[in-house]
Parts: sequence; C-alpha cells; structure tokens
Amino acid sequence: MESIGVLMTYPMNTNLEEQLSNRFNLFKLWNYPSFQSFSETHANSIRALVCNTKIGADANTIDSLPNLEIVSTYSVGFDKIDLKKCREKGICVTNTPDVLTDDVADLAIALALAVFRKIPMSDGYVKSELWKCSDYPLTSKFSGKAVGIVGLGRIGSAIAKRAAAFGCPVSYHSRSEKPEAGSYKYYPNIPDLAANSQILVVACALTDETRHIVNREVIDALGPKGVIINIGRGPIIDQPELVAALVERRLGGAGLDVLENEPDVSEELIGLENVVLTPHIGSDTVETCNDMSDLLIANLEAHFNGKPLLAPVL
Ligand code: NAP
Repeated sequence: MESIGVLMTYPMNTNLEEQLSNRFNLFKLWNYPSFQSFSETHANSIRALVCNTKIGADANTIDSLPNLEIVSTYSVGFDKIDLKKCREKGICVTNTPDVLTDDVADLAIALALAVFRKIPMSDGYVKSELWKCSDYPLTSKFSGKAVGIVGLGRIGSAIAKRAAAFGCPVSYHSRSEKPEAGSYKYYPNIPDLAANSQILVVACALTDETRHIVNREVIDALGPKGVIINIGRGPIIDQPELVAALVERRLGGAGLDVLENEPDVSEELIGLENVVLTPHIGSDTVETCNDMSDLLIANLEAHFNGKPLLAPVL
C-alpha cells in the first residue's frame, strides 16, 4: 500500500499522520502554498482524500483529483463533503461514527452545567480573589430541567441518557418518531419542542433542511429562562437571531461548542456572561481521537483490500 497516494487536507492529529505515512504515500496539503500548486504536480497520484470539519472535499477538489476513489472524513459529520459529486463519480465516503458519541454527549451536559451553574465565571471569581470580598451570587439548578433534543441520533440519544440520569424529563424532535425512544416525548416540530423545554440541545446533522432550523420562532418559544446548547454545527442556528435574543434577554443563555463562522466569534457573543463557548472540541480527547484515527485507517485499508467499509456514508 506504500505507493498509494493519500492527501490529508489539514493537520488534524499527529498520531493519524504517523499511521498514514507508515502505510501510504502521504501528502500533507498544508506543506504546499495552495491546492492548485499541489494538484498541478501530484493530482494523478491521489487515490484517497483524508479531510475534516475544517477543510473538507468540495466539488473543485474532487474534480481536480482524477484518480480519487475514497474520501474519509475524520469526523462523524459530512457536511463539508460534496456527496452529490462523490455519488456521481462513484467515489466512496467514510466517517467516524460511534467512537466519538460519549465525548460529544459529555460535553453537551458539561456546557449545560457550565451555563446554569456559571462554572467559568465562578472560576474567574475565585482566581481573581473576589471571593475574599463577598460570596458568589446564586446560580440556577440543572437537575430536573426539561431537556428538548433536536436530532435523536447516536449523540442525541447519548445526551438523552445522561440528561435522564440528572432527573431531566427528555423530549425530542427528529424527522420521524423513534419507536425505541421509550418515555421520551416526540414533537413533530421544533417550536413545540422548544415551548415545552427549558434546555434545547442541538444534536442533528447540518443539511440543507437543518440550516437555520433554530430560528427566531424557536428561540422565542424557548423564552427568557431557556438555554440553548449546540454541539451539532453552527449554521443549524440562525446566529444573528441567537445573539440578538441573548443581548435582549429574550433567551436565558447558551452553551456553544460550534459557531456559524467558526473560528470567528462576534464581539457581542464574547461579551455575554450568560454564554459559555468552547472551540469545537466535542470529540477532542486523546482517547477518542486515537479511536477515530484507527477507524479512519481501517476504512482506508478495507477499501484498498477490496473488503467492506467499516463506516460507509456512500
Ligand atoms: P446521527 O446518528 O446520524 O444523528 C443525526 C440526527 O440528525 C438524527 O437523529 C436525525 O434524525 C437528525 N436529523 C437529520 N435531519 C434532520 C432534520 N431535517 N430535522 C430534524 N432532525 C434531523 O449522527 P450523530 O453521530 O448523532 O452526530 C450528529 C451530529 O453531531 C453530526 O452530524 C455532527 O454535525 C455533530 N457532531 C459535532 C461534534 C463536535 O465536536 N461538536 C462531534 C461529532 C458530531 P432523523 O433521521 O430521525 O431525522
């Protein structure tokens, strides 16, 4: 396999880079001044593209690599891959589901706790020695709050399980009701889910249908005591509407791991003390990143050995 050309679009994990370069002829796009200058010299060598949530595989990239057979994303979300183009050209696509589910679900609960219990602010309070002057103001309880989940997939279900352990009644919205969802109440639309929730957790995939699916109507249905947690993708929420609602106190707070134009963050968002932000780190633990690397490599090896893919998207 050492002669098979693999192009990595972004430096995502040194362990993955090592594993790829031990097995394949690895090209790192960031070592070239531009994609164009890379493809002028090496386009014909590339049979596999390894991408992620920062630099994916758009139509131009796919068209520029005439011998491309497989696109493997180091993520479960595949919104940065032009699936239509891959389908047209018979290119396989794989992702890294399941191995990251626990970490992302853990972070969703951590963000909810951080917002309600004001953990980042109280940390700053102690470290700046304000504790010596007065006790920290009261915060809000998380346990028992009504949790509404947008997208009861792998991660949404893991969040539901964790929320239930905190005594939170769980409801959800997906395109269809899940028979396996047991006691979780199904809402066929998001405004009704929001109106009956105190915390709305966004855990669905980003698609043409879900872009800005959390809009002003949804935010207003959640109301001034409500909190939004987003561990899905930034553009699922209409961010200007979210910021306006937070500034005007029409929404109680937000915990956001993903943003609409990440890594750019609006000044307004940074200035809000009812908002907790993390830099798209849902699956970024050493353990999970190693598991994601192993799964990505296993998919490439399966493909080039003519075996069934372990995590096929296409
Ligand atoms: P999954 O099992 O495929 O779940 C996706 C969910 O999205 C399903 O419940 C699906 O429900 C729902 N959905 C899709 N289209 C919808 C629509 N139009 N309206 C409502 N719900 C819709 O995927 P997963 O493994 O749980 O991952 C979910 C997402 O989390 C990924 O796509 C990714 O964007 C994000 N993620 C973020 C991080 C991070 O670092 N923050 C890490 C990993 C993943 P139905 O099919 O029933 O409609």
